[in-house]
Amino acid sequence: MDLTDKEKFHLSNMEKGYEGERKFDVLLEDLQEERYILCDLLLEINNSYFQIDTMIISQGVIHLLDNKYFQGDFYLEDDKLYSVTTKRERKNPVDQIKRSTTLFNQFLLKHKFKFLVEPLVIFNHPTFTLYQAPLSQPIIFPTQVHRLLNGWNSTPSKLNADHKKLAQTLLASHIPKNPFAQLPAYSYEGLQKGIYCDGCGSFHISKLRYDFLCNSCGRKEKIEEAILRNVREFKLLFPDRRITTQAIYEWCKVDVHKRTISRLLKNNYTMHGVNTGTYYS
Ligand SMILES: [Zn+2]
Repeated sequence: MDLTDKEKFHLSNMEKGYEGERKFDVLLEDLQEERYILCDLLLEINNSYFQIDTMIISQGVIHLLDNKYFQGDFYLEDDKLYSVTTKRERKNPVDQIKRSTTLFNQFLLKHKFKFLVEPLVIFNHPTFTLYQAPLSQPIIFPTQVHRLLNGWNSTPSKLNADHKKLAQTLLASHIPKNPFAQLPAYSYEGLQKGIYCDGCGSFHISKLRYDFLCNSCGRKEKIEEAILRNVREFKLLFPDRRITTQAIYEWCKVDVHKRTISRLLKNNYTMHGVNTGTYYS
């Protein structure tokens, strides 16, 4: 679909953020000593919700980590974070993690746990620079990430029943997120119809005898598989719309006979109704 600049900016940030988290998770896999690592916790205390990207429970301290994969030069001014090139303000992750830490301490108190909590914002994109950052900020810069991990690895950690009880309490208190709440608004009319490449997302594909060929990356996909993939996507995107031959024909918008679509639907889905009222589930 056509995205506004704001949506593009937001989605590209989310994509980069995800990449950064994955890179950091890989580093955490090498952590030694006994620790619990809990990811993507959503918790609630006194009607306030807070999210913790990564929590590492070690013997003497609980680290709350927020991973940020910001690229390029930023500066801090009055506790606000700006990009040097765009002057655009970004949410200050230090403020966010301080809030989460306050709420998490209340959570510990409520559940009668006593642990030391230390928040850290980890900037792990190699090109990230932050000007005017005071020394007192709980920030780890790209050049410090390995030192941080080495520091953890050289600190012995043994977990006991209290740590286990805390981890269990956290998992039991975790609020599963509604994945639909995070989707951008979209409509059938607003989405581009057609079959795109399963590998690279390009709509630039040609039909061969049995396959679709992507003209951008060269990937081939069996025509039948590509159509069934589009039926699944149609179903996921528009759960309220009926799956009919005509609907899939319009959705795929590709040089394939309606007969072929009908046959695929019949063979892979349950048919309801007769003649023009036929639909599948
Ligand atoms: Zn492709």
